[in-house]
Amino acid sequence: MKTPIAKFGELPQRRGRHRLSMTIAPEQVPIYWQIGQSIHPCAVVTAMVHGDEFEGFVAALDVWKWVRTVDLQGSLMILPVCNPAAAQAATRHTPTRYDGLNLARTFPGVTGSSYTQQLAHALWNLIRDADALIDLHSGGVGYDYARLAGYYRDTDVDLAACFPKAFLWPVPATPGVLSYEFSRIKGKVSLGWECGGEARLDRAGADDYAIAVKRVLARLGVVARKGGGRVGHSRPRIGRTRRQTCSTAGWFLPELTVGSRIKRGQVIGQWIKPDLRVRELVSRHSGIVIAVRTLPRVEPGDYLVLVGELV
Ligand SMILES: [Zn+2]
Repeated sequence: MKTPIAKFGELPQRRGRHRLSMTIAPEQVPIYWQIGQSIHPCAVVTAMVHGDEFEGFVAALDVWKWVRTVDLQGSLMILPVCNPAAAQAATRHTPTRYDGLNLARTFPGVTGSSYTQQLAHALWNLIRDADALIDLHSGGVGYDYARLAGYYRDTDVDLAACFPKAFLWPVPATPGVLSYEFSRIKGKVSLGWECGGEARLDRAGADDYAIAVKRVLARLGVVARKGGGRVGHSRPRIGRTRRQTCSTAGWFLPELTVGSRIKRGQVIGQWIKPDLRVRELVSRHSGIVIAVRTLPRVEPGDYLVLVGELV
């Protein structure tokens, strides 16, 4: 049975698995909630803050299925579809008939405001008393992203390193981003990850997201740890990232792949101007290719490539 939920304190407190929902009319936000021996430590996994990102969504459902078989010490909340209206439309932003806003720039939200602001506020109230957050993103329809194991506090780098084959990435402060806002609350673990995109499911990325979440839950003590489980973090780490944006509309045909090295002046792809003349575009930066625009049509101000420096 579905029960209306509005805040963390209104969640069922009894041990077991609970499939719930929260109404942000006219949408229902699904809440999967499993309690073990105690409420804390409590971890939250969020996906589909952007409605066109499928890796975290699939991983979240996988983790929910798996956690049934696990003896939880703490509790786990899974929000596989944070923005149902965007998910139904398979769009990054909430559809324009609601307000067209980017939920991932809207936290902690406000009540009595537009739809996405209300949604952000409701989600925020639901998760803010948790101890840890793993917010799963991807490149969505427009981009392909390298695997980025984002973290905020240096002490959480071991948790980030649970994400296989990912670059370690100290996430820059961006107001309105769920993981950033959560990281600002004292004592919270906050992780924000990226992988895949391109308007499809990166299955390997989704599988490794699920593996990573399970490892993080063990390290947090939400599930019982088996063995030492040390995670090596002699992993490449991304420092500053730089976007190469376009100033006019057109079409970008990339000739580079995420995770590869690029040098300033190296060709990144073909650029088709509105008059259909074609020219080569070169990189303005050197480093690791973090993200590539894979939806060819671009509008002024869109970024074509995101390059990170290795540190
Ligand atoms: Zn996203």
